[in-house]
Amino acid sequence: MSDIIKDAHDADLSGRIQRETDPDAKHDLIDQIRRSIRVSDFVARFAAIESIDAGGRNYKSNCPRCKQAELMINNHREIIHCFNCGLGGNVFTYHMTRTGANFGESVIAVARAALGYPTPEEVNV
Ligand SMILES: [Zn+2]
Repeated sequence: MSDIIKDAHDADLSGRIQRETDPDAKHDLIDQIRRSIRVSDFVARFAAIESIDAGGRNYKSNCPRCKQAELMINNHREIIHCFNCGLGGNVFTYHMTRTGANFGESVIAVARAALGYPTPEEVNV
């Protein structure tokens, strides 16, 4: 586990990302966090997921925007897509839509989830 990810536990990650002035380094940091957890594992913290193939690559869940059971989760491509309302994106998109958090808050939440810690929303439940 990298030191970058460990910092999430101290909630210092947002400051670290803000202080990072090199756009490429900032992008890499965020991308590393995004890839640190399977999309389906993250979604499963908030909603039921249903496997739709034998390989565990693709799952289905309720869409965080339209609430219909049309959200496809593709772990291989690391994306979500809703066939009802068209919501598409990645693990950050899911979290922002689900909770109303901004992008920076979602990066922290995903980093915490990857480490096995509750996301801020789960702590407050
Ligand atoms: Zn939808």
